[in-house]
Amino acid sequence: MNANDFPVTLDALAALCKRRGFIFQSSEIYGGINGFWDYGPMGCELKRNIREAWWKAMVRDRDDIVGLDASIIMHPRVWEASGHVGGFSDPMQSCRQCRRMFRADQVAEQLRESAWRRALTDAAATAGADGAVVWNPDAAARWLEKKGAALAPGLLARCREGERIETARLAALLAGFATPEGRPCPACGGELTPPRDFNLMFRTFIGALEDSAGQAYLRPETAQGIFANFLNVLDTARVKIPFGIAQIGKAFRNEINPRNYTFRSREFEQMELEYFIRPGTDAEMHAYWVEERMKWYRSIGLPEGRLSKYVYEPKELAHYASACTDVMYRFPFGTQELEGIAARGDFDLRRHQEYSGKAMEYFDPEKNERFVPHVVEPSAGVDRVALAALCEAYREEWVPKEAGGEPRTAVPGEPLPEGYEVRTVLRFAPVLAPIKAAVFPLLKNRPELVEKAKEVHALLRRRWPVFYDQTGAIGRRYRRQDEIGTPLGITIDFQTLDDGTVTVRDRDTMRQERAPIAELRDRVAAALGEA
Ligand code: ATP
Repeated sequence: MNANDFPVTLDALAALCKRRGFIFQSSEIYGGINGFWDYGPMGCELKRNIREAWWKAMVRDRDDIVGLDASIIMHPRVWEASGHVGGFSDPMQSCRQCRRMFRADQVAEQLRESAWRRALTDAAATAGADGAVVWNPDAAARWLEKKGAALAPGLLARCREGERIETARLAALLAGFATPEGRPCPACGGELTPPRDFNLMFRTFIGALEDSAGQAYLRPETAQGIFANFLNVLDTARVKIPFGIAQIGKAFRNEINPRNYTFRSREFEQMELEYFIRPGTDAEMHAYWVEERMKWYRSIGLPEGRLSKYVYEPKELAHYASACTDVMYRFPFGTQELEGIAARGDFDLRRHQEYSGKAMEYFDPEKNERFVPHVVEPSAGVDRVALAALCEAYREEWVPKEAGGEPRTAVPGEPLPEGYEVRTVLRFAPVLAPIKAAVFPLLKNRPELVEKAKEVHALLRRRWPVFYDQTGAIGRRYRRQDEIGTPLGITIDFQTLDDGTVTVRDRDTMRQERAPIAELRDRVAAALGEA
């Protein structure tokens, strides 16, 4: 197993994130509120680094993209034009028995994971001659008779004929799991209603009266702010096609099943680009953006091996889209979407043209031509990228107690080797690390060391977020920094007072080298990949 393959669990990650100030449950002192998260001192720096890396790649380093920061609440007509009112709904199924709601497209997966389904399957499976697991409907029926009343009462009711479970009927019913109509409730085994539309937008009211005239919505995506400002940007920014408008901001969706830690939240942050292009260049521009975006994910430390693309089949595409590719990351809970990159044609601008009565056109002076541009939309989630970065960075390692040895990735379930201790480390790419370096005086009760350390701290913090820590044994101070992913630890010791050198400790290898203070800024820049 190499260092990249530590099998991180969300429980271990969430415990670290809470302990070290990355992510807290929202309103925790009141028992929390499902689907909402707060980012602590380290988490907000991590998110800021993600946003800044995106903004740099998309806006600062390019000549063809400008930024925007639109309001969260917009005219309600925006959401009619975009299709979100009346359209932005996920078909839902609710359980007639326990009343829980499920997204119809997620029931099959949740059913696979459901506790009662697993218990039933385990109880009813027997090992076949060749070691394969064989499904045994009689055993399943017996399990249901014994335990099903408590765990899957709805299912039991559906299986009973008189007072007896008929195994043939049970087998038929379980086969029915394969069809949407036949699926029971993942939570209790009860009967689900047929899929019904459910609007995911949060509603609010503008003004004093809570009537329909004042009804508005929290934006479910940032993109519509860009389309609604298309003409403003065109008039003011001297952009020439192809050009893009980029925006980062909060979005809100009343998700039915917020889950997998922060992966699916009800309040989250998006980084969206609308790249306006000449009609007919859609395929080429879409392919270009898929590659650009894959490059960006690699640049923030997500490795090729855990990234992938999901290319939509023509039949999966929205009617107006000509292509869509999702950037996927292999999370501990499965391979899931980080970003969607869609070629949306002129759908959005045309709809706004229709609903607002304003011509959403671009005029090309060279060709003396007026047209509604097409658009390619790379749309990513800050929180999902942060979660992927945390999953990628998290390791438990065995480190030799004696100085100088290399850390080894821990193997869960195996005993700690003699002479080793455990450390938890976040191996962030330096660009994402919340703190880039920590400065320590070896001893806090030696004023000459403290003074020198504060000098070094002042020198470095002009350029980077740098932490100063004088409390506790030096080993403990290193560990604290390892747990928040600080790439470098700089220690001021007695030799520093003699020859002006400090030790620079590398988070990943734990190796220490001496460097003159005069060269420290260059050494740090090089170690962070900025030189
Ligand atoms: P999903 O199918 O997972 O609900 P989606 O395809 O509806 O997502 P988009 O509408 O394409 O998502 O949104 C673009 C990006 O915004 C997503 O790739 C994701 O990174 C982010 N995002 C969307 N919904 C959420 C959410 N509930 N929580 C966190 N991030 C989200």
